[in-house]
Amino acid sequence: MTPSREEIVSENREYTLFSWSVQSAANPITMVGGHGSHFVDADGNEWLDIASQLININVGHQHPKVIEAIKKQVDELCFAAPAFATEARGKLGKKLAEVTGLAKSFFTLGGSEANENAMKIARLVTGRDKIITRYRSYHGATMGSMTASGDPRRWPVEPGIPGIVRAFDPYCYRCPFGKEPTSCRRECVSHIEEIIQMEGPHNVAAIMVEGITGSNGLLVPPDDYYPKLRALCDKYDILLITDEVMSGFGRTGTYLSTQHYGILPDIVTSAKGLTSGYMPLGAVIVNQRIADFFENSMLWGGLTYSSHPVSCAAALANLQVYEEEHLFENATLLGAYLAERLEGMRASYACVGDVRYKGLFTVIELVRDKETKEPLAPFNGTSPEMQKLAGHLKSKYLYAFSRFNMLWICPPLVITKDELDFALSAIEEGLALVD
Ligand code: PLP
Repeated sequence: MTPSREEIVSENREYTLFSWSVQSAANPITMVGGHGSHFVDADGNEWLDIASQLININVGHQHPKVIEAIKKQVDELCFAAPAFATEARGKLGKKLAEVTGLAKSFFTLGGSEANENAMKIARLVTGRDKIITRYRSYHGATMGSMTASGDPRRWPVEPGIPGIVRAFDPYCYRCPFGKEPTSCRRECVSHIEEIIQMEGPHNVAAIMVEGITGSNGLLVPPDDYYPKLRALCDKYDILLITDEVMSGFGRTGTYLSTQHYGILPDIVTSAKGLTSGYMPLGAVIVNQRIADFFENSMLWGGLTYSSHPVSCAAALANLQVYEEEHLFENATLLGAYLAERLEGMRASYACVGDVRYKGLFTVIELVRDKETKEPLAPFNGTSPEMQKLAGHLKSKYLYAFSRFNMLWICPPLVITKDELDFALSAIEEGLALVD
């Protein structure tokens, strides 16, 4: 007999620890299945998942083609140690080189470990030790990737690993340099040059940034930000690492979010949408110069489960689904519609301070007052209004991600216009409640 919601929750609560939670406050939704943009809880309720779980389940829940590929791989070969060559691993490496324009992939178990290895590779290749990251960033929950992150989730591990230096972000709505679009001289890039000078260019191995900042507010950079950052890296022979764990693999309608800006990083890290979460996998994808370096130098690293054949097979099937079902095109088309609706909300609701979007990667930033831009909840905190909004969405069985004064709308790339309209109506009702 299928256990009830209460039985599932109480066993989970009694014998497991929930991540990012004060355990006594953990109040998990159960999940027993799903299809497309919906998942189903143990009471049989169908939730529309506009958070794509952790902004990762891009092909939607329980896609039959990815499931079939996993089953086939399990039947053939469940495991091979990372020193072995397998068909799935080679095919996936080739595909990633094709779609990114880079050369070779080092496979990891997820995004945090990919970022750990990207930083290590940058240090090995350049012989330098400092890594510049940004304040409003999240690069993972392992010691190094968490230290590299700028957001408050890093505080508990501080001082963390040495050599991380942080810079400010292209957060145009709240420009850290107090600039308006008319007075902006891209200080968000030029101050990084000053940081490089002060740290010593010969000490700086890499600049590591999220392709488009995700869980720190979806900061879409101005169009010339990346060309300028790329030029800065070239000037000082510093490697550019873009963390595409959240922003990559179709989320913005392209494989890499930097493809919108016409630049090629030296190292890209990926996870989440690489397999749509069906199996754990991350990748550090490097350019030819770095690949060549390791022809005659040791690549120090690798775990028992690196390059897991079942994960590689899941990724290959997932990428095939993206292409066969034209999901990036759907992200672009429905993303344009979503952008229009978000602009409508900005114009209609006093509590909508800013909306930011690229494809199906979008956020609403909520304020008490449009003039002063006072946030509807404090940085690193919440407020009764944000809780009211979240409670309303929950009552409609709409699963969404909100943090501080922001609400993300990042549905699976398979979402239909009707499903999106349902979500947007519920959000507008919620905004009216706190307006
Ligand atoms: N980088 C970014 C931009 C992320 O959003 C995340 C996770 O949310 C990570 C890295 C860490 O990835 P993982 O949780 O797979 O270790």
